[in-house]
Amino acid sequence: SHSKYDKDKGVNVQVLLRCRPLSEEELRMNTPVVISCNEHRREVSAVQNIANKQIDRTFVFDKVFGPASKQKDLFHQAISPIVNEVLEGYNCTIFAYGQTGTGKTYTMEGGGGRKTKNGEFPSDAGVIPRAVRQIFDILEAQCAEYSMKVTFLELYNEEITDLLAPDDSKSSDDKSKKPIALMEDGKGGVFVRGLEEEVVYTASEIYKILDKGSAKRRTAETLLNKQSSRSHSIFSITIHIKECTPEGEEMIKCGKLNLVDLAGSENISRSGARDGRAREAGEINKSLLTLGRVINALVEHSGHVPYRDSKLTRLLRDSLGGKTKTCIIATISPSIHCLEETLSTLDYAHRAK
Ligand code: ADP
Ligand code: MG
Repeated sequence: SHSKYDKDKGVNVQVLLRCRPLSEEELRMNTPVVISCNEHRREVSAVQNIANKQIDRTFVFDKVFGPASKQKDLFHQAISPIVNEVLEGYNCTIFAYGQTGTGKTYTMEGGGGRKTKNGEFPSDAGVIPRAVRQIFDILEAQCAEYSMKVTFLELYNEEITDLLAPDDSKSSDDKSKKPIALMEDGKGGVFVRGLEEEVVYTASEIYKILDKGSAKRRTAETLLNKQSSRSHSIFSITIHIKECTPEGEEMIKCGKLNLVDLAGSENISRSGARDGRAREAGEINKSLLTLGRVINALVEHSGHVPYRDSKLTRLLRDSLGGKTKTCIIATISPSIHCLEETLSTLDYAHRAK
C-alpha cells in the first residue's frame, strides 16, 4: 500500500473522501450527478461534458466512501483504528473538510439524536459519539484506572469562543464574554487561558456536554448569520491512563483525540471578493490555508512547518506532526451545481496526501 498512514513511513496523515447522496430536494429537481466513486480502487472522478467545457478528472485517496456508505462503515474502516492509537498514548486529530452542506457535521456528529436505544446507536450517529463509546468500552474492558477531560471550543475570525463556558446572560461582561487567550507554555506547546475543562466519567456525560456545546453553536449560528459555516469547532478528549510496568512501576499514558468540524471550504475561494467581507474571509482563509500548508509540509517532510501562522494550527500543534495521527475526511456533494467547489475540495484534500 502507498498509504501515507503506513507506520514505517513515519508520516501519519490519512485522507478520506466522502461523497454524500443527493438530497430529496435535489432528487425532485432531477439534479445531474457529476461525481462517481470507486471505493474498491479508492478513486473519485468528476466528469462533466458540456460543449465548451469538458471536465474529466480522477483523484485517488487513502479511502473513498460513496453516497451509499454508512456511518458505521466509515467509523469501523477509518476511525476505529485511530481511537485505538489514542488509547496507546498518541495525539490524534480528525478533520472534516468541505463545502457547507456536504456533510461535515453529519459525518462528525451525526444526523439526528445520538441517544442510545437499548445500548445501540441510531444508524446515523457520527464519528464523535462512536469514538466516545469505543473509548469507554475499551477502558472498561481493560479495567484501567483513568481520568478524562474534554474541551469544546469554536474558532471564528481567529477568535476563540468556549462552547462549554457557563452561560451568564445577566452579567454580559462576565467570564463567558472575555476573549480567551492562546498562550505559549514555554515548551513549544500552547494552552488556552480560561478554557473550561470538564472532567468526565461516563459516555453519557460526554454526550450531554456535546449537546450543550452544539446547542450553543447553533444559537450563535442564528444570531450571527450562519456563523457556523465560517467557524471551526474543536472537540477534544484527553485521557490519562495509569499503567504498571512489568517491574511494578507506575506509568501514566496520555492520549488526546481532537475532532474538528472545519469552516466551509467555500470560504477559501470566493466569499471575500464577492460580498465585501474581505477581512473576515481573509482570517478564515488563514486557518484553512495554513492547515493545508502545515499538512503539506508534514507530508513532504519539508523542514519548516508553519504552525505559527494561524490559531487553528497553533491550537493543534501538539497533535500535528511528530508522534501523532491525522485523518482528514473531505466531504463533497455529487451535484452538478457544486462542481466548482467540489474540484477545489478534491485539490486541497489531494495535496494533503
Ligand atoms: P455541513 O456540516 O458540511 O455544512 P451537513 O452535515 O449539515 O453539512 O449536511 C447537510 C445535509 O445533508 C444535512 O441535512 C445532512 O443530514 C445531509 N447529509 C450529509 N451527508 C450525508 C450522508 N452521507 N448521508 C445522508 N445525508 C447526509
Ligand atoms: Mg456543519
